[in-house]
Amino acid sequence: MSEKKSKSLQNRDPQAPENTPRVDASQIQANETPPEEGRVRKESASRGSTSGTTQDTGDDGQGSSSSTPLASPGKPSANGVNHVGLPRETYKGAPTTLCAGCGHNAITNHIIKAFYEYGVEPYQLAKMSGIGCSSKAPAYFVSQAHGFNSVHGRMPSVATGAKMADGELVVFGVSGDGDTASIGLGQFCHLIRRNLDMVYIVENNGVYGLTKGQFSATAEIGSKAKDGKTNEFEMIDICGLAIELGCSFVARSFSGDGKQVVPLIEAALAHKGTAVLDIVSPCVTFNDHEGSTKSYKYVKEHDIALQELDFIPYFENIEADYEEGTTTEVELHDGSTIVLRKLGEGDHDPRNRGPALKLIHEARAKGELLTGLLYVNPEMRDLNARESLPARPLRDFGEEELRPSRDAFEAMMREYA
Ligand code: SF4
Repeated sequence: MSEKKSKSLQNRDPQAPENTPRVDASQIQANETPPEEGRVRKESASRGSTSGTTQDTGDDGQGSSSSTPLASPGKPSANGVNHVGLPRETYKGAPTTLCAGCGHNAITNHIIKAFYEYGVEPYQLAKMSGIGCSSKAPAYFVSQAHGFNSVHGRMPSVATGAKMADGELVVFGVSGDGDTASIGLGQFCHLIRRNLDMVYIVENNGVYGLTKGQFSATAEIGSKAKDGKTNEFEMIDICGLAIELGCSFVARSFSGDGKQVVPLIEAALAHKGTAVLDIVSPCVTFNDHEGSTKSYKYVKEHDIALQELDFIPYFENIEADYEEGTTTEVELHDGSTIVLRKLGEGDHDPRNRGPALKLIHEARAKGELLTGLLYVNPEMRDLNARESLPARPLRDFGEEELRPSRDAFEAMMREYA
């Protein structure tokens, strides 16, 4: 496990046009319904293709114009706009009110970078959260996106409603270890069972920072609190649980490792289904001391990366960092592909659930923190596909399409009589 493996997370669409039309950032308002013709679907945003026609609104006054060549995903152009024509500024939010040095702030920066590189349109984005320090984070990125700060632990329900009503939304949840592994554990489990198409980030620090640092359910047994108390309860391993429940994308990382976190977020955005990212994020105020297993020092000393990751969007040339005959491909539902270096004897193949769980258990027993892509199942259908829901938002259907005919209604009533 000492040798890092190289992995490219590639997103490709042979049908995609060369350039993606862009939307003027200055004309996007929070919660404003964009015109149908201006919409770009989640998967097409990443692949550079569009659903229907997209609008070119001309000069946005922020350094881009209709004549400006657009950058390809992952590679902003010389004038600083990404492939949908938006500058990095668009992806920022309000100034943080979290403690200076909090790992959550670092994750916010990684999220901003990932959205900018991936080219998400703010009007397509639904930021979801629950309660806790972590759940405040969505206020600090993409201020022009939609957002919903739900009841404690209930973010999955709200996210499910939003995604089922509008299949084109990019649903992006930020939660914490308390919000996910305690009060919201039931909701978390059922979200995974249903494989809702969303990104679910757990900013995991092992304590309740908002209420002065009590142990949360993800604190390791035997770890010490700031006041010297020892945690006597077994921990809940978010990744182990997610894999056990059949989650289709599971990864773990560390807030201080942007090189790993950013491509993981981009790969999670490209994945069609529930993508869980458990990111260890030290609480500098209550859980960054000797005896903590979620402090900066501890994680840096015990972090073992499974792979070196890079996300390669559609337009970008694939720079193969592997020798011929030593790769394997995993094709995702949306046409994207994960290219892996051929793994040697005893190495980890993230498509196998059993070995992924075994690795997590073994690492925990050795006091190691395994980071990287732990498990991926691109075959699993997401909730909207299983329920045969249209990608088109329900709000765009007219009465004629929504109201069943008299015959259809009577047939339905007979069925339930
Ligand atoms: Fe971050 Fe801890 Fe401060 Fe909360 S209390 S903002 S988790 S450092």
